Amino acid sequence: MMRGRITISACVLAALCAVGLAARTQQPPAAQPAPQAPPPAPTGYKDTPMQPNGKWRVHDDDRPRPVVVKPGPFVGLPAPSDAIVLLGPNNDLSKWQMTQGGGPVSWPIDAAGVMSSGKGMIRTARNDFTDYQLHVEFATPSEVKGNSQGRGNSGVFLNGVFEIQVLDSYENKSYADGQASAMYGQYPPMVNASRPPGEWQSYDITFTGPRFNGTTLEKPALVTVLHNGVVVHANQAFLGPTMHRQIGTYAPTNAKGYVGLQDHGNPVRFRNIWLRELKAAE
Ligand code: MG
Repeated sequence: MMRGRITISACVLAALCAVGLAARTQQPPAAQPAPQAPPPAPTGYKDTPMQPNGKWRVHDDDRPRPVVVKPGPFVGLPAPSDAIVLLGPNNDLSKWQMTQGGGPVSWPIDAAGVMSSGKGMIRTARNDFTDYQLHVEFATPSEVKGNSQGRGNSGVFLNGVFEIQVLDSYENKSYADGQASAMYGQYPPMVNASRPPGEWQSYDITFTGPRFNGTTLEKPALVTVLHNGVVVHANQAFLGPTMHRQIGTYAPTNAKGYVGLQDHGNPVRFRNIWLRELKAAE
């Protein structure tokens, strides 16, 4: 009798355990934490050094953003006969190399000469440009991702150290001296002539490198930039080499250099890049 009661109790216990286990396994799985979106990029800074003008800090969040100007329809500008074609209507990357290590360029390019920015910065193989006219066509990604400096960021580096910013600045708030066609960290463009994401845009740049007497700067680097045919800098002097959150100091090595394109982690497309070396008329 006793033995039978134990057996029955054991059966009841086993049944209760089974019910409990079943109830436990039928519970909905614990909610997975949502994937963390990256924090938004800052639209400016208030803790950076003052610029020499004494009015604004580098990347000052309070500096007024340039007025928006709608450019005219896009017009491509084919290379003139005396230009050095850096990126033509084919997949020839022979005039470029990786900035780090100098190896062959790994950025993808199609048969029509449209190159997308990839991992690592690239530069022209030639490293002795001084004064030049430079035409660049680019397009920021048509799919908008990120904000401020995290959206369509690349850059055109003159003499290797002076950056004309590439950014998707179409309805994208970022610091004035960091938006498209800015002399990065130094001067905003006079106006914002950006086209919408995905559309082809152009920079037409006239650059004269700095001049030195020994180690003394005699004349700073000067630049005139047209963004989509609109003048945004007119013979403006770089305050020094481009840096993030500060302004660099001129060095005699800045007198000549390469043209570089920046990898900032966003796939920006480039095509039709050419350069004309400038020589004053007699
Ligand atoms: Mg940049």
